[in-house]
Amino acid sequence: MRSITTLDIQYAHRFYGFQGEAQYLHGHTGTLTIEVEDTIEPGVNMVFPCNEINKIAWDVLKNFDHALILREDDPLLPAILEIYEKQGIKDGSPRNTMKGEAFKTSLATAYPECRLVVTKETMTTEGMIKIVHELLKDKLNIAKITFTSGVNAASAEFDAGKEKSRCPLCGVLLDENGVCPKCGYRKH
Ligand SMILES: [Zn+2]
Ligand SMILES: [Zn+2]
Repeated sequence: MRSITTLDIQYAHRFYGFQGEAQYLHGHTGTLTIEVEDTIEPGVNMVFPCNEINKIAWDVLKNFDHALILREDDPLLPAILEIYEKQGIKDGSPRNTMKGEAFKTSLATAYPECRLVVTKETMTTEGMIKIVHELLKDKLNIAKITFTSGVNAASAEFDAGKEKSRCPLCGVLLDENGVCPKCGYRKH
């Protein structure tokens, strides 16, 4: 069975080198749907609490929200960093509080201080799915990711992996010692 959550991400990007209007800087509200697959944990009669999937995903994905997403070879990148530097907002600002945990994977690097994500590949809907899967695959048993942005949409199915031990009282993942990080339940 699957538990499914959806979250919205507002971002600016462009398809550098693409022959179409998308080569110009523009923005979207993207909708990401994450499907987590496992057995049903009988204690809670759920695969996984959807608000917890959302929280785990949002911890890293908020780096993409109200952010600029540029490919590593895009000449806009040094130009924008120069302006942010001059303006004194490159290394953060008191009003920039909704920061995610910084990350660096083979496909993307997040710079939360200046709300920038630098990607290896163009951030199409397909590209975003690859990035999100790489970021979350070790934290959640992801079976499917769908990403919709404007008229573009893509989805991909993944091998969800082995059954995970979850708390029979709140449904979240037990830690390596079999203890629930949320309620303290201990597996015997
Ligand atoms: Zn776009
Ligand atoms: Zn618990």
